[in-house]
Amino acid sequence: MVKIRFLSGVEGLIGGNQILLEEGRTRIFLDLGMNYRQWLDFFEFIFSEPRGLSDLRQVGMLPEDEALKVDACFISHAHGDHWRLISALPEKTPVYLGECPYKLLKAWLGTGRGKRGFKEYGHLEFKTFHSGEKIFIGNLKVEPFSVDHSIPGAYGFLVETSSGNLLYTGDFRLHGRYRPPVSLFEEASHRGVTTMICEGTNVGQLVSPHTELDVERQLEGILSRCENLAILDLAASDVDRIKTIQMVAKTSGRFLAATKPILTVLKALEGDEKLRPPRIGVDILPYEDVEAEIQAKPSGFILCTSFYSEREVRELKPPPGSLYLLSSSEPFEEERMIAFQRLQNWLRLFGAPMYHLHSSGHVYPMDLRRIVREIKPKELFPIHTAYPEAMKAFLHDLTKVRIPMRGQSYEALKNSI
Ligand SMILES: [Zn+2]
Ligand SMILES: [Zn+2]
Repeated sequence: MVKIRFLSGVEGLIGGNQILLEEGRTRIFLDLGMNYRQWLDFFEFIFSEPRGLSDLRQVGMLPEDEALKVDACFISHAHGDHWRLISALPEKTPVYLGECPYKLLKAWLGTGRGKRGFKEYGHLEFKTFHSGEKIFIGNLKVEPFSVDHSIPGAYGFLVETSSGNLLYTGDFRLHGRYRPPVSLFEEASHRGVTTMICEGTNVGQLVSPHTELDVERQLEGILSRCENLAILDLAASDVDRIKTIQMVAKTSGRFLAATKPILTVLKALEGDEKLRPPRIGVDILPYEDVEAEIQAKPSGFILCTSFYSEREVRELKPPPGSLYLLSSSEPFEEERMIAFQRLQNWLRLFGAPMYHLHSSGHVYPMDLRRIVREIKPKELFPIHTAYPEAMKAFLHDLTKVRIPMRGQSYEALKNSI
């Protein structure tokens, strides 16, 4: 019988997923992420980072060493709340992930091998998989299937266990551009699922259910009325959004420029045949190279920034008729809110209007309900949600919803029941 333990990412936390599956002697992690809310409660980037893994363990963000001894760790996608703590895994632990997330991790981490610490990854054995591959780990069979999310190379997993099939959704949405060649959810409903571990970011809160196509159409309209510089802030790894902006830049006859964090992502994914990211120097220009040109002719450019950066606003001093567009989620952590406030103060100084235009990286509630209805799992564990109780009330007529508590071990229902 398979046992499931949620070591983080539950009890109202969004992200920081750490799901341990135990089947006999076989143990695997599905994601080993870091919860940023918890991090900010105890640490600060650069100024007060943890000295090592023990600091993280002390504040309850990291499981004990014993729990980390696994046969393999599977990473659903390259957002830090799903992989950031793999550095804590013992020497030579196999870490399975898709090709795109591997390229992104390499670009962000470098290849440093050194003493074991919070930022050391050289001791791990990375293994890349592709959608539909069957991976056998002891008594478990794990199959990754690509899903649509706000970062390229996101996967959900179907795991064959002695208690039946287990579906872990990872983070996903159904309203983006990407249509997976094989749908994880169709596959799951076709095979039958006993246990579903399901994200619920958008359940229990106010949602603007825009699709990626809505963003494109609205952006087109807005830019046609923008007389001067357009600055768009987006998540640096949201390649689909960059492609949306690239299309709109083309139709509006503007050059597209971007700052470093975005270029790092595009460089890492350069040449990917399926993804076809904008080419640096051709489709998208480095901000550093064209700063003077933007200043000379602001109406000819769209500048993409990220992390609510105000530096470029300060440098470019957007002239009247310019526009700032927030094309990511609004900040919900205090530290980010302060950065966003600072940015807004600068924008007000120049009188630049601020618009918000975004399509969530996470499934909308009505789509989620449809999927659960189609798959008909015998039980469902809500995770990655601030409101697990709301998710229970939302889905309890369709399946048995079990709200997971941190550290507790759950036996999966048997498929015969
Ligand atoms: Zn997440
Ligand atoms: Zn994510």
